[in-house]
Amino acid sequence: MTDAATQKSIAMLEKLVAFDTVSRNSNLAFITFVGDLLRSHGIESRLVHNTEETKANLLATIGPRIKGGVVLSGHTDVVPVDDQDWHTNPFAVVEKDGLLYGRGTADMKAFLAIILGALDDIVKADLKTPIHLAFSYDEEVGCAGVPSLIRLLEREVPTPRAVIVGEPTDMKVVSAHKGITAVRTTVTGHEAHSSQIHRGVSAVMVAAELIQFLQNMSAEAAAKGPHNVLFEPTHTTITVNHITGGTALNIMARHCTFQWDIRALPEDNSAAYLERFNTYCRDIVIPRMRKISSNCDIETVPRTSTPALRLDRESEAEQLCRALTGDNVTRAVAFAAEAGLFQQGGLSTVICGPGSITQAHQPNEFISVAQVAAGTRFLHDLLKMMSR
Ligand SMILES: [Zn+2]
Repeated sequence: MTDAATQKSIAMLEKLVAFDTVSRNSNLAFITFVGDLLRSHGIESRLVHNTEETKANLLATIGPRIKGGVVLSGHTDVVPVDDQDWHTNPFAVVEKDGLLYGRGTADMKAFLAIILGALDDIVKADLKTPIHLAFSYDEEVGCAGVPSLIRLLEREVPTPRAVIVGEPTDMKVVSAHKGITAVRTTVTGHEAHSSQIHRGVSAVMVAAELIQFLQNMSAEAAAKGPHNVLFEPTHTTITVNHITGGTALNIMARHCTFQWDIRALPEDNSAAYLERFNTYCRDIVIPRMRKISSNCDIETVPRTSTPALRLDRESEAEQLCRALTGDNVTRAVAFAAEAGLFQQGGLSTVICGPGSITQAHQPNEFISVAQVAAGTRFLHDLLKMMSR
């Protein structure tokens, strides 16, 4: 039997999953729903829109407007379902054998649903310090939305003592994550018949050489470190996972573009890898290409950069979540999240939320009813702690 509080969380999850908040879409219908729900409980919220006004972050405070509150943070967007073999409608929660299927059930609408399903209890809970709700857009496309939310938080909210980012961790406390820098490199070569290599520059061949350079840097990081055994893998990684270029077998390619990422340990410096790559292009590869044609070029643009979350054993957020979960194991994850950005803003931050990261971004994504129950219990224990 599921308890009444968990049933409320599940009922709210059904509503939230029904909003198609894939990152490429507007999240405004979702945010309006949340804003209206909060208002019906007497809670005002603030929105921060993107420049196109198609998406918004939401910030709301429940309880006294004083320092020492707890921020509950989550993203409203989900990843696409295109080309995935879903057995049910991804935007409708379907329960089967104790599992709740639907896009975003694990990553991470269940965390939001647990909070929003418990608004009656949060409002009634005589909080001695406030709970702040910080709901962002565009987390799944490089944590692009949350920086403006963090700025609003810094400006308008008396300093909170802890931020809990409710990404799926099976309700375990995750104290560190890697940073991610996403980069796009565009190579411009010079077209010629592929038999005439002294007259042309194949952008595809140059890209292959640059990708090998990245591969070597990644291998060097694996061999020489830094290493941090909290992480799997234990070192910074660099990978290339998208490439387009060329037009025909017998034309030396004019264009090639590839996208790559640096996933850096908290103790490593992603900018240093980017700088080494740029130096190699500038000093070695571009001059060689330009001996054939002055139009040849390599352009590298960092597209998004999310800082790592550093382990801080003494932090308020650590102590709070460890007290609530009884979890005393130190954990780190390889995926990047908004937590590093909150920490960069000077806020004590950990990740702790219901559901499993192994379900995130998968077809037939699910969260177990047991995890929703565990998350619901966590929230109610937090309320008890904050009412004392
Ligand atoms: Zn997520």
